[in-house]
Amino acid sequence: MNLIKIIILVAISTMLFATLGLAIQQQVEKQPVDSPINPEKLVRSIVFQPGAKEYIVDNSQIASIDVAPQVIAGRIFVPVRFLGHALGLTSEQIIWDAATQTITLVCSKYSVDLAINNKVITSNGISKTMDVVPWLADGRTQLPARFVAESLGYQTLWQNGLLIIWPIGEPVPKIDVLPETVNEYDLQTMTVSETIEFLAFLDSPVENAQVTTIAGQLPNAPRPYRNGIHEGIDYYLAAGTPVVAAGAGIVIRADHDFIEMTLAEYNEAVRLSQATAITPEKMLDKFRGQQVWLQHQNGIITRYAHLQHISPNIKVGYAVTKGQQIGNIGNSGTKSAVVGKILSAGGVPHLHFEVWLGDTYLGANKSLSENIYMYRAIFDY
Ligand SMILES: [Zn+2]
Repeated sequence: MNLIKIIILVAISTMLFATLGLAIQQQVEKQPVDSPINPEKLVRSIVFQPGAKEYIVDNSQIASIDVAPQVIAGRIFVPVRFLGHALGLTSEQIIWDAATQTITLVCSKYSVDLAINNKVITSNGISKTMDVVPWLADGRTQLPARFVAESLGYQTLWQNGLLIIWPIGEPVPKIDVLPETVNEYDLQTMTVSETIEFLAFLDSPVENAQVTTIAGQLPNAPRPYRNGIHEGIDYYLAAGTPVVAAGAGIVIRADHDFIEMTLAEYNEAVRLSQATAITPEKMLDKFRGQQVWLQHQNGIITRYAHLQHISPNIKVGYAVTKGQQIGNIGNSGTKSAVVGKILSAGGVPHLHFEVWLGDTYLGANKSLSENIYMYRAIFDY
């Protein structure tokens, strides 16, 4: 486990920063972050930006992070060590207990406890419930920055795409220096090999299942019945086959209260789709049936559709580990399900599985052979 993989950038450079429409020039020194910038002291301000591998301390110092903060389920997550150092803690004051999966942050005034996949945060003995949980991905503990900062004597503000943190009781700090966004990942522009590397943290959504080579079950296959195209991959397997999380992540959707369309509703959805140039998202969502969506690192979202059942512990805001069961294969959202064929031979149960980054699904602009190669490389090996 390499929690402190640090990029030390010490470069004095002249940079342009915008503030309220005004550009100012400032000389800034980049700091290593294997130690706090201001140990045991509340800093005047910290600024995190999702996607930026830098954060700003006291409106002047730039510190590097090797994994950019990311927004998941509406909260900014920062790896524990970087968050701790930003908030003034030394490495010794950031305690990870692998056996109990707990994190303790201590300094002269505060003692804060959190646990993986647990919404409770305790600060100086007082517990509070968060709306998200700390989670582990690739050996890194990701913490919701806002709740942790607020437990260590800070207040927070989400403004113009930035998380601003400053001591309780003080006025909102002036922010002139902004982090530089560096990792703009885009599935459209990545090559096949770059995409395979980028998604190496994912595995098959069904254990021991193989990626199909049938064109009609792969991305970009036409779907004439709804005037659309296929945005994912299908795994045709028996109803009830367990579906697992393709990677560590946070549940952002789980349709526990799913109700199947009636035949009239289904026919109306088909009619509306046929009347439009491409299947409207609202209709597409109905055709995907009962779903679970997970959010992973770097903004990646995986979607699991046509489920028959969702595991009870799969709840929005909670973390899942790679390989954890999230539900079972079914045929919800398909015509077969609408007419009640799930268990019959004609029920054609299958998992429909999608991978998204922003507005792009995995394989959107790739050829059939590229997609077979790419999906196999990511999910089969
Ligand atoms: Zn499908």
